[in-house]
Amino acid sequence: MRQRFSIALVCVSLLNAGTMPPEADQRLALDIYKQMVEIRSGFTTGATTPVVEAVAGRLKAAGFPASDIFIGGAIPKKANLVVRFHGTGAKKPILLLAHTDVVEAKREDWSTDPFQFIEKDGYYYGRGTADDKAQAAVWVANLIRYKREGFKPDRDIILALTADEEGGGPYNGVDWLLKNHKDLIEAEFALNEGGRGELLDGRRISNDIQAAEKWYVDLRLEVTNKGGHSSQPVPDNAIYHLAGALVRLGQFAFPMKTNEVTKAYFAEMSKIEKGSLQADLAQVAEGSPVELSGEAMERVAKLSPQWNSMLRTTCVATELEGGHAKNALPQLAAANVNCRVMPDDSLEYLQSTLKRVIADDQVIIKVDNMEANAPGSPLRADVMHAMNRVTDTMWPGVTVLPFMSTGATDGRSLREAGIPTYGVQGFFNDRNDNRAHGRDERMMVKSFYEGQTFLYELVKNLASQ
Ligand SMILES: [Zn+2]
Repeated sequence: MRQRFSIALVCVSLLNAGTMPPEADQRLALDIYKQMVEIRSGFTTGATTPVVEAVAGRLKAAGFPASDIFIGGAIPKKANLVVRFHGTGAKKPILLLAHTDVVEAKREDWSTDPFQFIEKDGYYYGRGTADDKAQAAVWVANLIRYKREGFKPDRDIILALTADEEGGGPYNGVDWLLKNHKDLIEAEFALNEGGRGELLDGRRISNDIQAAEKWYVDLRLEVTNKGGHSSQPVPDNAIYHLAGALVRLGQFAFPMKTNEVTKAYFAEMSKIEKGSLQADLAQVAEGSPVELSGEAMERVAKLSPQWNSMLRTTCVATELEGGHAKNALPQLAAANVNCRVMPDDSLEYLQSTLKRVIADDQVIIKVDNMEANAPGSPLRADVMHAMNRVTDTMWPGVTVLPFMSTGATDGRSLREAGIPTYGVQGFFNDRNDNRAHGRDERMMVKSFYEGQTFLYELVKNLASQ
């Protein structure tokens, strides 16, 4: 395996002299990546501590003083690591973030062992190869490279490798650091997962930068009733009340709108897409006249669930419960309604809108579970400039695409704490074959090393202006 690998490596580096890191740095990144993937850090069954301990060992061996390396977390097996690479201090630090936990993976669901790092047909396979151990490994390898090369940044570069992004909960590393050691990660802005490069039919389409996220709310719709014998039904029935509420919810759609990030997204998409869609996307970005934009938004939203979700708050029924016996009138009927809310919509707005739509006082709306509502990050000139410059140099003609995620990452917590956060990776992947969280998760070999170069250059640009 090792022999075969080094031959492949040489070929790849000859073909892509401009975008590939030096061979020694490729090998270092690969070593770290493989080691991280093979440590079982599943969200519920694994531990992140061995990942960060291995990284700490590498950093110390590379000359980082122990006093600049912090390890700690909410519980012993969910440790996080923070390391500081000192700059001149001319500017406020920049924070690099990646999570070290992964979504669970079962051997029987996969073609290969998910916790074995395997290279096959131009891809690296294993749980976490895409989400998020590629970025974690590259951050570490690049930091070691800066140190070796004697790079003197004009600001501190802080790297945080954190626990429990997948599913969040009480051991989430970013929340824990913000609460207990905010000084360690205080930064002018942060770079995180959430934005990747998009390939379509093997062609590079865009290099995405995620600058906003929708926020997550679970609402419980609940109807209680005194019930009774089902041989003598009455119109006032908990299941019918709930069913009526859900039908009205299903027929309702929140009004559509754009924000700074989605405006920029649709403007760039209008340059990528073709035909009448191009004009509609441009009109959505333009925003006026309101009537024409409204019609264009309707057409764009109908074309894709993702675009629909980027244009409005959505709420959808995801779970049902109710009744207690086949021969009894129900005393309870309840549904979970999962909402993904636009960053500038408030909880009050969400609740009052649904109350009006459901229009039945018997249906109680309770907040069951809610993440923080974080504002989108402004598209800073320095970040966008560096992003454009490095993307243009490495992949001429590829669009830099500002992006609002309809799902969530740890960027939410940083943004809420006042640290603008940008999801950037430069790892290109087929946009119709996203296997993160799924079976046979993988990363293109070439994309991994190009991403390594991209992030190396991007951070260097942002830390020496
Ligand atoms: Zn992730």
